[in-house]
Amino acid sequence: MQTKTDLKNFSLSQLESLSDELVGRKYPGRQLFQWIHRHNITEFSGMTSLSKEFRELLSENHYVSRAEIVNTMTSENDRTRKLLLKLADGAMIETVWIPGSNRNTICVSSQVGCPLACRFCLTGTMKLKRDLTAGEIAEQVYSVKSVLSGGDDFQNIVFMGMGEPFLNYDNVVAGAELLMSDHGLGVAQKRITFSTVGIVPGIYRLADSGLKTMLAVSLHAANDDLRSEIVPINKKYPLSELRTAMKHYADTTGRRLTIEYCLIDGINDTLESAKDLVKFIHDLPCKINLLAYNPAPGLPPEFRRPSEKSIARFTDYLYPRCPAVTFRKSRGADILAACGQLASNRNESV
Ligand code: SF4
Repeated sequence: MQTKTDLKNFSLSQLESLSDELVGRKYPGRQLFQWIHRHNITEFSGMTSLSKEFRELLSENHYVSRAEIVNTMTSENDRTRKLLLKLADGAMIETVWIPGSNRNTICVSSQVGCPLACRFCLTGTMKLKRDLTAGEIAEQVYSVKSVLSGGDDFQNIVFMGMGEPFLNYDNVVAGAELLMSDHGLGVAQKRITFSTVGIVPGIYRLADSGLKTMLAVSLHAANDDLRSEIVPINKKYPLSELRTAMKHYADTTGRRLTIEYCLIDGINDTLESAKDLVKFIHDLPCKINLLAYNPAPGLPPEFRRPSEKSIARFTDYLYPRCPAVTFRKSRGADILAACGQLASNRNESV
């Protein structure tokens, strides 16, 4: 028996070619794209502007997938919402909506689990189950939109959920392109940020791709020995290589990078670490986002949230020496939706 193909992964031009092949015209393919990516319709019967003939031909070998929203949790502290989504093969992923004072952000996942095992991250304890498809990446945004109400919406999308985006580069970029299409939600390129823990070839690919999206690098330490402890992929892509790739990105695109730095008590929040960080960024056009470690069951017990005093010592050293430093308050920590706390293999109330 022939298995059907999921049209949610098709680009606009692929749907136009399919339409041309089935009914001799490209335009219905564009309408089909709009039904899927602008209106979030997955049943062909609901795509009322398509001819009956086209819908029947489509349904012979194709379908449009939809993730099931298994659970939603809302933070009592800051209204952050976390969705647990069940994909067609039963795999589970988490997606987070984070309200801000001016702009709201959706944090999407790129893989089911992650192979990189960063020490501070719960997703890394899951190992990699599989990559997400382009459609599954875009779908997370449609799912979040479907549960928002009362005028809530989103402005930014960050690839900081489960998985390392640059280990699934092609699907991540294809998923972002679905979201950016004027025939879909039309998300502006500069509103999308890819966040990598330091996959050097991915940084070069993005730099040379012509995309105008943003890049964040999760650094967490600017000393090779320490970084290799916290972020093991540093052994493969050490700081000197990572720095050269970041410089190439900044020089090629003319855009400023974001450096994410998660402060962990007594590990990377020392004055020594702050000095290493200042040296590392000296001629990189960047801004630094500091955040404090979020403990979670399953993470190393020796990792703790730093005290206010040590956060102040670190930031006070950075402020006069770095072009832009912000301390990002963790959002959604009470529902395990903050940075490093996502994992879909916990037992959660459904
Ligand atoms: S921080 Fe990112 S790259 Fe590291 S284990 Fe977690 S999901 Fe993977």
